[in-house]
Amino acid sequence: MVVETQAEPASDALKTALAQFDAAADCLGLDEGMRMVLRHCKRELAVHFPVRMDNGTIGEFTGYRVQHNLARGPAKGGLRYNLNVSLDEVRALAMWMTWKSAVVNIPYGGAKGGVIVNPKQLSVRELENLTRRYATEISIIIGPNEDIPAPDMGTDAQVMAWIMDTISMHRGYTEAGVVTGKPVSAGGTLGRAEATGRGLLYIVQETARQFGVPLQGATVAVQGFGSVGAVAAQLLARAGAKVVAVSDSGRGIYNEQGLDVDALMPCSKDRSPLSEAPGGDHVTNGELLALPVDFLIPAALEGQIHERNVDSVRARFIVEGANGPTTPEADAILADKGIFVVPDILANAGGVIVSYFEWVQDLQFYFWEEGEVNDRLHRVITRAFRDVVAMAEQRGVSLREAAMLLGVNRVVEATRVRGIYP
Ligand code: GLU
Repeated sequence: MVVETQAEPASDALKTALAQFDAAADCLGLDEGMRMVLRHCKRELAVHFPVRMDNGTIGEFTGYRVQHNLARGPAKGGLRYNLNVSLDEVRALAMWMTWKSAVVNIPYGGAKGGVIVNPKQLSVRELENLTRRYATEISIIIGPNEDIPAPDMGTDAQVMAWIMDTISMHRGYTEAGVVTGKPVSAGGTLGRAEATGRGLLYIVQETARQFGVPLQGATVAVQGFGSVGAVAAQLLARAGAKVVAVSDSGRGIYNEQGLDVDALMPCSKDRSPLSEAPGGDHVTNGELLALPVDFLIPAALEGQIHERNVDSVRARFIVEGANGPTTPEADAILADKGIFVVPDILANAGGVIVSYFEWVQDLQFYFWEEGEVNDRLHRVITRAFRDVVAMAEQRGVSLREAAMLLGVNRVVEATRVRGIYP
């Protein structure tokens, strides 16, 4: 008999992740036991901890680290500092990491972590204190063989350096492989900082080739101008695409003739609002999502394309830079409208692929040149793209369903062949 013990989902991200999984499980004909294993996260750690603030008071914070599945290798996934972090959101993001690693065939399970905090409201010293204390709290479940965090929304290479240093201080030796996305000077790899954006470039190139759309002059709109969206926009512009719109969490900027993305890059670094940048008309995020472009790249938050705004979407292709930007309801409507969606677990996998390369280099104490990193990223992500397209054609399903079938099936195979212990 299968007994379900975990409470049912509250958050939208988790509902989306579970709906996507259930659809794949139906298609694969998974039995109830296997579904139960894969619907639930294997380990969930919640931590509440104090941080000494600059004004002498003590702040109390809550963080999580969730490992969804370990069947294919150590848990892997980013760490988010954001006020909207919740246990359900972290669970969803951890589950997506499992399928993401599986679909691009790198030997990891899925994990995610987060702290409920607005990092912009902390001083550098407070951010370091919070990071070191959180790292200590979760040190009982992370490590190069167990679970390897990486940057995500609100965290960066500096945060990863503090985590690596904290764990190393506890252990008494430098444990570079405990996190990825570190600065190159502290065991990071060349190419990691721009890896997710570069992966998106390769995916757009493959999509253009597959569907016979010339990339030269193809119009692109990017929602989100952070470490993923800004890099993708810049690399796509350099590759000859016409980036007509980009936006940040406030508003966006639009120019039918194409934006000078290089000139906008400082906005990504110093987080100055795009709404104040010259070179185009101002648009809301809603207007950006409705632009008639060849490629729309949502590279910000979950749940951006949903039942209520999907009718306005006029792009030919959506390439998901964010995790979970499209709800299942919107997905179905996009399919009816003939809009192709290249799903997050494939399209934004460049980050975790190069994280894998960083981890391999750390474990071997042997570092590669940037060209080698980018070439290998290209090889891994284009092979995954072709595997997903082949699956979509073979089963007559969408690219998301195909990616899910491929990813979920790899995890199922590993689980079956390993068996149930004891
Ligand atoms: N946070 C990124 C993601 O969502 C990267 C994870 C990693 O490198 O482990 O894929």
